[in-house]
Amino acid sequence: MLIHVRYDEIALKGGKRGYYERLLRKNLAALSGLPQERIERAPGRLAITVAEGEDPAPLLDAVTRTFGVAHAQVGHELPRTPDAGAEAELARLEPVAVDLAREAALGGKRTFKVETNRADKAFAIGSLQVSSRVGGSIARAVPELKVDVHHPEVVITLEVRPERLVAATEGVTGPGGYPVGVAGTALNLLSGGIDSPVAAWYALKRGLHVDHCYFHAFPYTGDRVLEKVLTLGRALSRWAPATMHVNVLSTTKIQDELARQPKEDLRVVLLRRSMYRLARQVLRARGHVALVTGESLGQVASQTPENLLCVEAVVPDVLVLRPLLGFDKREIVAVARRIGTYETSILPYQDCCSLFAPRRPATHATVERCLEAEAGLPLAELEAEAFEGLETWRTARGGPTERA
Ligand code: ATP
Ligand code: MG
Repeated sequence: MLIHVRYDEIALKGGKRGYYERLLRKNLAALSGLPQERIERAPGRLAITVAEGEDPAPLLDAVTRTFGVAHAQVGHELPRTPDAGAEAELARLEPVAVDLAREAALGGKRTFKVETNRADKAFAIGSLQVSSRVGGSIARAVPELKVDVHHPEVVITLEVRPERLVAATEGVTGPGGYPVGVAGTALNLLSGGIDSPVAAWYALKRGLHVDHCYFHAFPYTGDRVLEKVLTLGRALSRWAPATMHVNVLSTTKIQDELARQPKEDLRVVLLRRSMYRLARQVLRARGHVALVTGESLGQVASQTPENLLCVEAVVPDVLVLRPLLGFDKREIVAVARRIGTYETSILPYQDCCSLFAPRRPATHATVERCLEAEAGLPLAELEAEAFEGLETWRTARGGPTERA
């Protein structure tokens, strides 16, 4: 038996096919724990051989977490015999479909239907006829299975293509996107909230491997927040083939300094400017190609266009990506649930900003006012000290989190 893994071929315009397929294969091997040799590159798809008695479920699970995969099916494939007639070809396909049905029955399925896709229009037997003939053979050979065209427990799909015959049971949908790593590595600003893990997931989907940066303000934010962030990192790492790093920097002294300066309404914007400058240092040291954040537009005072501009102004040479720009909170929550970060994100630990935020934060900050407020503050020294104290944790594919 084979698992046929298909990617979205539209994504491949531009002649990078070979590289893309090799990376997809490598990533799938890493996430499924299979040696690469078990994943064969066939035209337009990858094929994983499932050994006799091997459960395909864990492999399919890995497939659903491999970016770049459009969908996958468990089944068999036969090359076409060029000069054989339709009858002879169907006679070869039929026993294969019966075998799949038998396996489904062994797995507890009781109803089925056959669907045929006749991509080879020269094939002399129509698709409805193929379905009904093969369906009849299955019903005779596997008496536990009854035909149910409306709500079958298993659908056997047959494909008649010019170059091959396929018989497969229902498959799984992949996450789509590009293979992780095809676009380089980005640095995601990971807080304990709902948004930033979702932002990271979308960066992964676009082919960026992701590491994270978390700004910890101990003791204002307790170590349980750090634990929460590391748990989020671990949940995200299930979607990435390579080791994921969480960089932790302390912003305690910076917050103390900013809490003392007189422009109280600018506190949050100034803190975020420090965070971006620190993130830039990490990004440069590690060779990341972009910064990713969970910022949206207009959700909170810190995310007005004016305030985002004040923040972004401190890193003019860095590409800042905000995947959630157009998302409503409800949509973000739905994705967070699906990718396995929501339950952790809603654990009730305050983040630093909710403690530190002024009563009336500026919603229309200007770069000039920020520069005035920062003049004379020892932020460069405090940021250098924070960078010196950088601590890194690592986790791979949902495994344990360790100090790097
Ligand atoms: P989230 O749900 O991701 O916390 P949020 O809606 O609460 O986002 P903010 O707290 O304003 O919004 O933060 C906006 C973004 O800034 C976050 O999504 C995250 O990318 C980054 N960020 C905020 N606080 C931190 C922090 N302590 N460490 C690292 N990144 C942070
Ligand atoms: Mg937050």
